[in-house]
Amino acid sequence: MPRSALDLVMGDLERFGRIPAESIAFALGRSHDGVASVKSVVLAEEPGVTRGFGHIRLSERWMLRLTELCELLEQAVVAQFHSHPDGARHSDTDDHHLLHGPDILSVVVPSFARAPAMREPDAWAVYRCGTGGYFRKTTVDAVTFVDAPTEPFLLSENGWRRA
Ligand SMILES: [Zn+2]
Repeated sequence: MPRSALDLVMGDLERFGRIPAESIAFALGRSHDGVASVKSVVLAEEPGVTRGFGHIRLSERWMLRLTELCELLEQAVVAQFHSHPDGARHSDTDDHHLLHGPDILSVVVPSFARAPAMREPDAWAVYRCGTGGYFRKTTVDAVTFVDAPTEPFLLSENGWRRA
């Protein structure tokens, strides 16, 4: 994962964390020999996203737009990041309602990503979606950070634009 992608994602989580509200962002990329490389980051904007203190919700239409963008870019969701008010762990809601797919990583960033230390990988909880569709906890060692550019997108129910 490019550090530039990480900066984009953490910037979004922190920005909404100051409200304070949860936020969510997606990293898209391509897989080769079982290793996924992140190429793009998708941040959510209205309409289609509802943010609050202890919740974040994306509409079905928003998710449809995300699928369309993936098809256009010929990329797939590699990882999804969202923030929590408190601790870094998947809630029952996360287990059920986050995007499921083989090997998709789900990262929970604690304390609304407001403190710099929370935006560092050591503070996160990282889960991997297995082929059975269940998220299992893994370690941040599943992610390697590289220096590479990232294409940023802002996506809503109405479409997307480069951020
Ligand atoms: Zn959550």
